[in-house]
Amino acid sequence: TRVVEAGDDVATRRATAMGGTVAPLFYDQPLQIVSGEGAWLTAADGRRYLDAYNNVAVVGHADPTVALRVGRQLGRLNTHSRYLHPEVVELAERIAATMPDELDTVLFTTSGTEANELAWRLATEWTGGTGALIVEHGYHGTTRWMADLSSNEWPPGHRPDAVGTFRAPYADGDLSADATAAMVRAVAQDVAARGHRPALLLADSGFTSEGVHDAPPSYVRGLRDGAHAEGALWLADEVQIGYGRTGPAMWRFATSGVVPDLVTLGKPMGAGYPIGAVVTRREVVDRFAERWEYFSTFAATPAAAAAGNAVLDVLEDRRLPEKALDTGAHLEAALTDLAAGSDLLGDVRALGLVAGVDVVDRPTARRLLQALVGRGALAGLTGPGGNVLKVRPPLVWGRAHVDHFVDALARALEDVRPGG
Ligand code: PMP
Repeated sequence: TRVVEAGDDVATRRATAMGGTVAPLFYDQPLQIVSGEGAWLTAADGRRYLDAYNNVAVVGHADPTVALRVGRQLGRLNTHSRYLHPEVVELAERIAATMPDELDTVLFTTSGTEANELAWRLATEWTGGTGALIVEHGYHGTTRWMADLSSNEWPPGHRPDAVGTFRAPYADGDLSADATAAMVRAVAQDVAARGHRPALLLADSGFTSEGVHDAPPSYVRGLRDGAHAEGALWLADEVQIGYGRTGPAMWRFATSGVVPDLVTLGKPMGAGYPIGAVVTRREVVDRFAERWEYFSTFAATPAAAAAGNAVLDVLEDRRLPEKALDTGAHLEAALTDLAAGSDLLGDVRALGLVAGVDVVDRPTARRLLQALVGRGALAGLTGPGGNVLKVRPPLVWGRAHVDHFVDALARALEDVRPGG
């Protein structure tokens, strides 16, 4: 056993007690954040950072509406989810009300991973299948099976028999509904030939881990049609992209006009309180209930539901999804301007208030991210090559935050220039 010395800093103590590379932190010098307010974070050394990355804090950090409602509930009761509680039912009703009419039934979980796992179980009961279809370089969670469904994390040579990967909307190829459906069917038949008829096709509706990509409605329709033709259900994973980030429709799939069989939610739902959900048609849940029950201890405890309702209150009262569209358009324009004048930046893509900016290569992207921290702004990297700067801020951002961020990014670009 390694021994921690008196006076060791938190980073050393963490490495000793919690391991190192298995759970990496952000940034070359991991930050110890001690407080937050709105779009701003304060570190232990007193430095303030503009948060350009947190979607857990979708309504801003330390929002008083959330803190009060959760605090009041904690002061009264918080326990498992096997009692009737109006706060929990209210949250289910409000979420269902944001969905197309067919998607009328909400099951709660405690994370995005668990929501995808539960959706998977619902789909296997409905279809009898044992295989899954995912996009190249997608991410869906941490359990053993969700890791198999997260192609962006596969170690070299890891290719589960039960899983097929299909072409992303940003890859070269025909994005028409017919061509996309044919592509999905061919992948499904490959998987079936390996002994696994697909039960589910999953895709992040904003292709966020892939670098933030739009998909034309024809492509989305093709995914759905191809999945259905092979007897599989279609799951829209809205864990990362959903919850108003891409506008008042609340969910990214809504822009395609195609209704999924299942939708999964998580990350922003409880402003950091762990809560996720699957939303689907009643008949899918009823089929599952013929053979199984579902109960998860912490899935929508009264306090988690209080957090969920408070988040929805703030989104509605402050019209944050509407604001996300305006702020996002300003962000896209400002980033496009900046990229036009820089040989280190390439394509800029935005979906509401999340943007991906291609950086010339991975080493430069890493130095740029680090320089950005030095200039007081926190963002992230994503994409198949790890060279896409991801800007995914709390929805409380307005145009002034965008200007502040783009100014910091311009300075960071100067910092990483050779000799800079
Ligand atoms: N799906 C998507 C699209 C995600 O981005 C994530 C989290 N990054 C997950 C699922 C898993 O959610 P969680 O980390 O809450 O288990």
